[in-house]
Amino acid sequence: MLTKGLQDRIDEWVRPEIRAIAAYHVPDAAGLIKLDAMENPYTWPEELRTEWLERLRSVDVNRYPHPQAPALRERLRESLGLGDGMELLLGNGSDELIQMIAMTLSGPGRCILSVEPGFVMYRMIALFAGMEYHGVPLRADDFGLDLPALLEAVERYEPAEGFLAYPNNPTGNLFDANEIEQVIQAAPGLVIVDEAYAPFTDHSFLDRLGRYDNLLVMRTLSKMGLAGLRLGLLAGPAPWIEQLDKTRLPYNINVLTQVSAEFALRHQGVFDQQTQAIRQSRETLFSALKALPGLTPFPSQANFILMRTPAGRADEIFAGLKEQGILVKKLHGSHPLLADTLRLTVGRPEENAALLAALRPTSRRF
Ligand code: PMP
Repeated sequence: MLTKGLQDRIDEWVRPEIRAIAAYHVPDAAGLIKLDAMENPYTWPEELRTEWLERLRSVDVNRYPHPQAPALRERLRESLGLGDGMELLLGNGSDELIQMIAMTLSGPGRCILSVEPGFVMYRMIALFAGMEYHGVPLRADDFGLDLPALLEAVERYEPAEGFLAYPNNPTGNLFDANEIEQVIQAAPGLVIVDEAYAPFTDHSFLDRLGRYDNLLVMRTLSKMGLAGLRLGLLAGPAPWIEQLDKTRLPYNINVLTQVSAEFALRHQGVFDQQTQAIRQSRETLFSALKALPGLTPFPSQANFILMRTPAGRADEIFAGLKEQGILVKKLHGSHPLLADTLRLTVGRPEENAALLAALRPTSRRF
């Protein structure tokens, strides 16, 4: 119970914009088929798990981790094929990298620009860092960039940083690469192309690094299959990374993550097989959803599919799925362009089959 005195003190000292928001909510998924958070549904083969645990045996958890994680960075450099002059910054998830960028560039009148609907942490972190946030609506029909509106916003707000997720979350599509380049060229500050879903598409901005001095590419190991380790990375021109690195907390990548991620990357083939399987399942799931009356899935280059339900039915379908043991993400109500939508993470074939089986009877009634 809060006493009046304690409540008064909170009201006096906690920033009003923090008091006004709710903490990031993660629903309890215990006992449910978890298709809400874009995780890789596959675990590691048993031999690999044994080898990994053996590797962990030699880790000294009494010592602080290496502050720069050199072995892991080298492995990541190699796997990305990073060119000369480009550097890497590691984060405790890419969420932390977004926070570091904001802390480095924030200041009076500085803002973050992105598109809506987009990844919610760009807006949240702008708020945490005391920055303004502007989200330019995507085109309503295909969730593409509204380039004239975006260029106008760049000119009007002169953003310190702009974020474009490629592919975009929660819509799953890739924006037009030429249009993104026009935004990069017009932007006065940094533009971060967020490639969290890179394992599920053949398109990337990595090879454009160095072509623009304000372009950074952000990635994460979460969607590839290591969400529990929390490792994100930011690649770009060394002078930018050197500045951003100053806001990094000294030991942000813990020793278990350093050793485990490096180990995992040496077995990249296992993860490639898994992400390939997810890509195939995505196509199968997309066609099956499309065939269900009343449901409209949007094409996706990520490991999830955004789906529109008949008007006014998203709540009921979401609840019905949950009752049948399946947790998806309800986006209806979060943005006008997401009215009547649910986001379905692609799971294992049997999980996707369970999802379709649960949707089928409902869709027959449309
Ligand atoms: N960027 C995008 C576009 C995302 O969808 C997510 C996670 N949902 C992230 C970044 C953050 O990923 P993580 O912190 O797990 O690296």
